[in-house]
Formats: sequence, C-alpha cells, structure tokens
Amino acid sequence: MLRFSLFGIPVVVQPFFWLVAAMLGGANHADSRDGLIRLILFIAVAFVSILVHELGHAIAGRRTGGGHATIELNAFGGLATHHGGRFTRNGHLARIAWGPGAGFLLFIATYLALVLILSPQDAKAMAQITLFNTGTFSDTLHLLAFIREQPYWFEIASSLLWVNFWWTLINLLPVMPLDGGQIAGTFIQNRHKLHLIGLITAAAMVATSLFLDQTLTAAVFGFLAWQNYQQMRQFRWQA
Ligand SMILES: [Zn+2]
Repeated sequence: MLRFSLFGIPVVVQPFFWLVAAMLGGANHADSRDGLIRLILFIAVAFVSILVHELGHAIAGRRTGGGHATIELNAFGGLATHHGGRFTRNGHLARIAWGPGAGFLLFIATYLALVLILSPQDAKAMAQITLFNTGTFSDTLHLLAFIREQPYWFEIASSLLWVNFWWTLINLLPVMPLDGGQIAGTFIQNRHKLHLIGLITAAAMVATSLFLDQTLTAAVFGFLAWQNYQQMRQFRWQA
C-alpha cells in the first residue's frame, strides 16, 4: 500500500486502485511492449487525475470547514474524508464542487498546453477526436507530427483530456454517492426523492452504456441503480 503526504494531506493508495485503473486502461490489450507502456501511462494519468480531483475536495474542505482531510484512492476511485471540520451549507457545497472543479481545471490546463505546444486548431482537432470520435486530421500538421514523433506524449495528453472530461462529467450525474448526487442532496431534502432520481438516472446510464458497448460503465451504474433502489426503499416512510 502506497502512503505519502501532499500539501499536508495524508494520501493512501489501496492496491485495488491500480487493478481497476489497469482494467479501465484495457489491460487485456497490453500484449506488446508498446501496449504495456501505453497502459502504464494511462494508469499514471488516472492516478494523477483522481488525486487532483480529491485534492480539490480536501483543500476546499480545509478552507471552508477547517479540520483536517485524508485522501484514499481505492477500487471505486477516490475518497476525500474530513475530520473535525464544521461546514455551512455553502461550505459543504464548495467542498463537493471543487472535486469536479479541479478535474475541469486539469482538462483546461491540458488543452491550453496543447494550444501553446501545437496550435489552437490542433488542440481543437485533438479534443474532438479524443472526446467525441469526430473531427479530422486534415489541416492539423502539428498534430500529425506530434503523434508520429511523440507517441507517448500524445497518449498522455489524450488520456488527460478524456479522463478529466468524461469522468468529471459522469461524476456530476445526480446519482448518490457520486459528487453530482451529493450536490443534488444539498438541494433535495426528501431522501426518497433523491434516491429515486439517482435510480432513474443510473438506469438511464445502464441503457446508454449498453447501447454504446461500454460494459464496465453499464455494470458500475447497474450497481449504483441497485444501491439507490435499496436506499430509496429505506426512506419511503420517512419522506
Ligand atoms: Zn469527488
């Protein structure tokens, strides 16, 4: 188990974190030296991105509520926990929002780095190709040279864009216990209703993921749908 401290915040990385990151990076396709390097780069990007996300929660929490924070990276991503802080509603909201906020900042920083290193057109083409599978390589000479000459830096940059865009966006869906669910929870007092929204959203995500052949995402949201259903039933008579 890896342990270290960052900005005075203790961080623990559980072994399962690496295993899940490897699965998400397509460990089963890493059957060559090149594939293995690309997998390791993806795991490194996932590690940095989730750490930045959790640091967003932890640092915002320390500023708004005091106390001290700890971070754990585990099979479900990460968790920033606060000990002994006192939060107002807005402080609590800021603490949750700064996780995705930090993720989007890392996305923007990556995009701006590509603008500076390549060109605005190349950065735009790369984001379109990486995020939406659309766009074209024509008129993007820098990008083509970048892919050819710096394939591993291209891998890092495209993974940084992909992870910090899609994971951050998915995390903002109103499904407990994702950040989006917790943000919704500060506005919706009725727990039954909150988990019903979580159940419907998660079920819609299962259908969408299956349609897009994203089996792992479908499984994760299937689990979240079931969890929200259980919690919804628990709160039925208290609503
Ligand atoms: Zn978060």
